[in-house]
Amino acid sequence: MATKVILEQLITNAERLNSLVDEAKEMAFQHGILLRTPETPNSSEAVSFAPFTLFPSPVPKATLLQALAVHTHFNTLVDKISQDPDFLEEALDGTIQADDFIAKLFDIYRKVQQEDRTQSIVVGLNRSDYMVDQRADRTSSLKQIEINTIAVGGFGVSDRLSVVHRHTMKSVGLLEESKCIQDTSRTPRMSAALAKAWELYGQHKAVILFLVEEVQLSKLSHRTIERELWNRNIPVVHRRFDEVSRRGSLDADKRLFIDGLEVAVVYYRYGYMPEHYTEQTWDARLLMERSLAVKCPDISTHLAGTKKVQQVLARPGVLERFFPDQPQVVEQIRATFAGLYTLDMGPEGDRTVAMALANPDKFVLKPQREGGGNNYFGEDIVRVLQEVKGDERRAAYILMDRIRPRIEQNILLKKGLPLKLTSICYEIGVFGAYVRHGQEMVLNEVAGHILRSKSTEYDDAGLMRGITTFDNPLII
Ligand code: ADP
Ligand code: MG
Ligand code: MG
Repeated sequence: MATKVILEQLITNAERLNSLVDEAKEMAFQHGILLRTPETPNSSEAVSFAPFTLFPSPVPKATLLQALAVHTHFNTLVDKISQDPDFLEEALDGTIQADDFIAKLFDIYRKVQQEDRTQSIVVGLNRSDYMVDQRADRTSSLKQIEINTIAVGGFGVSDRLSVVHRHTMKSVGLLEESKCIQDTSRTPRMSAALAKAWELYGQHKAVILFLVEEVQLSKLSHRTIERELWNRNIPVVHRRFDEVSRRGSLDADKRLFIDGLEVAVVYYRYGYMPEHYTEQTWDARLLMERSLAVKCPDISTHLAGTKKVQQVLARPGVLERFFPDQPQVVEQIRATFAGLYTLDMGPEGDRTVAMALANPDKFVLKPQREGGGNNYFGEDIVRVLQEVKGDERRAAYILMDRIRPRIEQNILLKKGLPLKLTSICYEIGVFGAYVRHGQEMVLNEVAGHILRSKSTEYDDAGLMRGITTFDNPLII
């Protein structure tokens, strides 16, 4: 990261700053760090650079290594949860009563459980997100914000940001420091897991179906993954839910077909929010889940990534259920957990309500939603809890300790955003990829990492909401 002095000099020298920023943007174009524009999200004719920071942000080496080291255990954990119906049923019981979306997903899960023949190959592509908590005693510690198990982004178009950052650092004279930026190969490793699942399915003419959104702002990221697959002679098609709903079918063996093509793998890049579904497309999700196609993720892995499951995992003794003979693994995972509290009906949930109302600034209130912009902070926590605290509606949420990350200075580059010195905080994301065939894990990998930063003026985040920017760790 450029020192504060360099940033302050830059910001007062408009000519120098504009020239560096132009250069960074041009490099972003050259290296494919691109998004379609919000004005024409479905057009292949207009793109802009994806938002990014002008400089990388300093991340303590030990912290990053800790996040990377624990991740294969998170892969295993998510996968074990997905195979544990009793656990899922119990963990999500209250949530299902309160949250219609989770109830609908759970309904599909139950239906799939009753099927006589199901796919035993599972492919997981996930991302565990962390902030570095700054404690009052000035020590810091890695805390997991959440783990995403469906439609994770943050790889694809951003992969080559390291090249841009190395250049901006050198441009301001930080030649030695620029060596502390690592290259990552997220997309090849994530794609390799999809390829492995396709291979295990064993039909060379069968396709990988990318289940895509209607508004395809991040189409170019999909393309970078797709390219890796075509390079291995794996055919890829893109379809929306409504197309699967109208043209998808199962044969007598429950193999999934669309437009005459057999589907080996369904890769969901969509379907994680209630707004993504209509009555009709819920049927399409069920059809895909019941089919013999490998799902990334299958419905149980999707449910394993809910914030409610995250909260239940933090209860005493729960991790031990999944790693009965591995106390070191339990310890390693647990070390990353922040305080997480139930809001299910009962005395424990009552205590959570009282605790949150007494000190709302110490917590985050989270519903079972994804994609940023859904959480409550500060006085909003009080408002929402006052409304739902007396009945089972409150079980739709969990409460979490609010992390106070270290604040850094940077300049955020985003189309239309004026250049200014900005206080930012970052989230480290670690990518995981695994493939299980029956009881055997045939692939279990850490597939790289990413840093994403936002201005501290926002509590919540989201790249697609225009708040989060791509960043890189500068290892210190
Ligand atoms: P989503 O699935 O919508 O991404 P997250 O749990 O990641 O939900 O929360 C969204 C954003 O809210 C995060 O990226 C982070 O900026 C902020 N946030 C979430 N949990 C916390 C927390 N415990 N402390 C501080 N900020 C948080
Ligand atoms: Mg999420
Ligand atoms: Mg998140």
